[in-house]
Amino acid sequence: MDRLEQTLFLDTGIHALRFAQGVRARGLERLGITSVRDLLTHFPTRYNDFSQVIPIRSLKMGERLSVMGTVDEVKIKRPRRRLSIIEVSLLDASGALIATWFNQPWLAKTLKKGMRLMLLGKAEHSYGYWRMSSPLISPVTDEQDDGTIHPVYRANSDITSAWIARLVTECLTTAPAPLDPLPPALRAAQGFMSRQFALRAIHRPLDEAQRAQAHRRLAFEEVYLLQLFMMRRRNRKALCAKPFVHRTDGPAQRALRQTLPFTLTDDQTNAILEINADLSAEKRMNRLLLGDVGSGKTIVAAFALAAAHDSGAQAAMMAPTEVLAEQYAQGLGPILDAIGVPWALLTSQTPPAERSSLLEALATGRLSVLFGTHALIEPDVHFANLSLVIIDEQHRFGVAQRTALRDKGPASDFLAMTATPIPRSLALTIYGDMEASFIRTRPNEEARRLTNILPRSGVYLAYEAIRKALERGEQAYIICPLITNAKHATDAREAREAGEGAAGAAAGAEGGREAGAGAAEGAEGAEAAEGAEGAEDEQLPLLTEFSDLGDGPHIKAAEEELAFLRAKVFPERRIELMTSRLPAAVKRATMNAFRRGDVDILVSTTVVEVGIDVPNATVMLIQDADRFGLSQLHQLRGRVGRGKKDAEIFLVAGSLSDEARVRLEAMERTDDGFELAEYDLRLRKEGDILGSRQHGLGHLRLVNVVRDAELITIAHREATELLSTDPLLEQESHCHLAWELEQLFSRDEELL
Ligand code: ADP
Ligand code: MG
Repeated sequence: MDRLEQTLFLDTGIHALRFAQGVRARGLERLGITSVRDLLTHFPTRYNDFSQVIPIRSLKMGERLSVMGTVDEVKIKRPRRRLSIIEVSLLDASGALIATWFNQPWLAKTLKKGMRLMLLGKAEHSYGYWRMSSPLISPVTDEQDDGTIHPVYRANSDITSAWIARLVTECLTTAPAPLDPLPPALRAAQGFMSRQFALRAIHRPLDEAQRAQAHRRLAFEEVYLLQLFMMRRRNRKALCAKPFVHRTDGPAQRALRQTLPFTLTDDQTNAILEINADLSAEKRMNRLLLGDVGSGKTIVAAFALAAAHDSGAQAAMMAPTEVLAEQYAQGLGPILDAIGVPWALLTSQTPPAERSSLLEALATGRLSVLFGTHALIEPDVHFANLSLVIIDEQHRFGVAQRTALRDKGPASDFLAMTATPIPRSLALTIYGDMEASFIRTRPNEEARRLTNILPRSGVYLAYEAIRKALERGEQAYIICPLITNAKHATDAREAREAGEGAAGAAAGAEGGREAGAGAAEGAEGAEAAEGAEGAEDEQLPLLTEFSDLGDGPHIKAAEEELAFLRAKVFPERRIELMTSRLPAAVKRATMNAFRRGDVDILVSTTVVEVGIDVPNATVMLIQDADRFGLSQLHQLRGRVGRGKKDAEIFLVAGSLSDEARVRLEAMERTDDGFELAEYDLRLRKEGDILGSRQHGLGHLRLVNVVRDAELITIAHREATELLSTDPLLEQESHCHLAWELEQLFSRDEELL
C-alpha cells in the first residue's frame, strides 16, 4: 500500500468495515460516524479500569475494585416469574467472591466453570462472603497486551459501546497506519507519540500514563490543525487584494492625542501602538481588542478612526444595539468634531431624508467615519473608500453580517472589540487567525467595586444602599431577569384569593424558569418569548409586600419591580423602565434622561448589558442573580464603578443550590473579568460563553481550553512558524497536512 492509500484509508466510508453493516451501520450514522476517521475520533467518554487487580481478600466494603479469578460454579435461580438471577462464584488464591446479575440469562451460557475472569464492581460483604452485584466482566486472555482498561463509548439502541470497541479494535489492527500529519521535527521536539500509536493508546490504553500521553498528542493535533486552517485561510485572502497602508502619525491622530481629557493607561497606549503598527503595515489587519467593560476600548478605537481619516479613507464602526451605536455617536462624535473628522450615525431609525443625504456623502467620500448598527450592512450603503472596519461585540453578529460589512471595502483592515473577557488560550483557539491586544486594567482603578450576595429576605439592605447613593446625588440600576410576570401574576392573585398563595406563586415560577433557561443568550431571549404572549395582558402587576419576600421561587420581573418600588420603596424618586419591548424612541428618551441624571433609578432587563456608560451610577441590584451566567453578571456589573466613585453590586437570589452559590461567590471574590472567565470556563462548556457555536470549538473533542492552555499556546506558535515558511501549505512535504485540513474543515468552512 502506498503513502497516498494509507492517507486515504482514514476517509473511507464506514461500510468498508466487515462488521459495520445493517442496523449497526445505522447506529453509527446516528452517532455521526460515517467514515473510518469518524470512528477513530469517536473517543471513549470514560474507561473501566480492570488494571488494578487486587486479591479478593483485600477488597474493601463499598469501594469499586477489580479482582481476577477462576469461575468455580454458575447457578441460575428463578425466584419469581420474570426474574432470573445468575450467581457465579469466583476463586482466587486468597478467597472466594459471589457475583450476581439480574435478568441476564444469556450470561449463564457464556460463563463456564474453569473460565478466567476479571470483575469490576462495588464490593459488599455479607453472610461470610465478598459479593458484587452486577459487576463488569472482562475475560482474561493470553495476550493481555491489548490492555485491561476498557473504553466506554457514547452509543445508542442500534449499536452498543462494546460493538464500537470491537470495530475500533478491528480498524486499529487491520488498517494500515494512517500517515502522521505532524511534521517529524515537531513530533520529536514535543516528544509526541505517532498518530497510529496515539489512536491505539487512547482507545485501548495499557495504563493511565499512556492514555494521558495519547490524549496530549491528539489534543495538540486538534488545535494545531484548526490553527493552520484558520491562518492559511487568512493568508489566502491576503493574496487577493493589495492591503491598504494607513498613515498613523497624521494631523487627526496627533490632535486626538492633544485633546484627550485624560491620560491613557499603559494598556491603552500599548493597544494603540499595536493597532497603528498593523494599520500602517503592508498587510491586512485582523486584530481583536479584548478589554473588560469600562477598560476604555472606545478611545483606542478612536485613534484607528483618526488614522483612516488621515489616510484619506473611511472607517465603519458597527455595534450590536442601537443604544450602543448612539452612545458612540454621543461619546466619540464631539471628539471627532474637535479634531476635524466628519462622521455620521446610521441606524434603522435614521429618517429617510437624512439617510439618503448621508449615503450620498458617504459614497462621495465627504464622510470619514460612519457609526451604526446592522443598518450599515444594507446593500445601498456604499463607501467611496472603506479602509477600516471596527465591530464591537463581534460574536453577536453572524459571520455573514461581519463579512458583508468588511466586503464593502477592497481590503479593509479589521478590528474586532469585545468586552467578553476570554482567556488568551480561548482567544487563540477561536480567533487563531487574529492578533490580540489586551486591556487588562481599568482607568479609574481607584474606584472600588464591591459585590455582595444577599438572600431575598435581605433585599432591603440593597434598597438601603440605593437610598444612600441617591441621597449623595448618585444613581442606581436594578436588573431583573424578566420583563413581566403579568400572566403569572394574575394566576398568583387568583390563587391568593382562593387562599392558595404559595401554590400559585410556584406555578408562576415554573413558567419563568422555562423562559429563562437559555443560559448564555440569557434573559433577552426569555423576554422575547414572554413578550409575545403577555403583550396584550392589561392586568396590573402584582404588588409584592416586603413580608412576601421569602426565598420562594417567584421570579422578579422588571415591570413588577418598577411598580413595587414606585409604590412602596422610593415613592418620591424618579424611576423608569428599560426593556427591549419598549418602542425605540422611548428607550432612547429614557436612556438620555438617565444619562443626564434626570432619572434616579433605572429598572431594566439585560438590555443595559452592553456598553452603557453612566459614570454617576454607583449601585446595582441584580434580582434573581442565579439566573444569569457569570460572564453576563460581570458585564452587567461593569455598568457601575465607571467614574471615580466607589460602587456596590448586590446579587439577590432565592434559595441557592450549592453549585449556584459557588458560582455567585466567585463574583464576590474577584472583580477581574479574565479571572472570572477562566473560572467560568472550568465550570461550563466553552461555547456557552460566547453564546454562539459559530467557531471552531465544535471541532475540538479532546481540548479543554482552560486545562490545555499551554498546549494551545504551543500549537499556535508552531502553526505560525510553519506557515511563515509555507503560507499556503503548498510544499511537497506538507501535502498531507493540507489534505487533513481539507478533510476536517471543508464541510463547515463558512462556520469557522
Ligand atoms: P469600554 O471598554 O467598556 O468600551 P469605554 O471606552 O466606554 O469602556 O470607557 C469607559 C469610561 O472610561 C468612559 O467614560 C471613558 O471616557 C473613560 N476612560 C477611558 N479611558 C480613560 C483613561 N485613560 N482615563 C480615564 N478615563 C478613561
Ligand atoms: Mg465599549
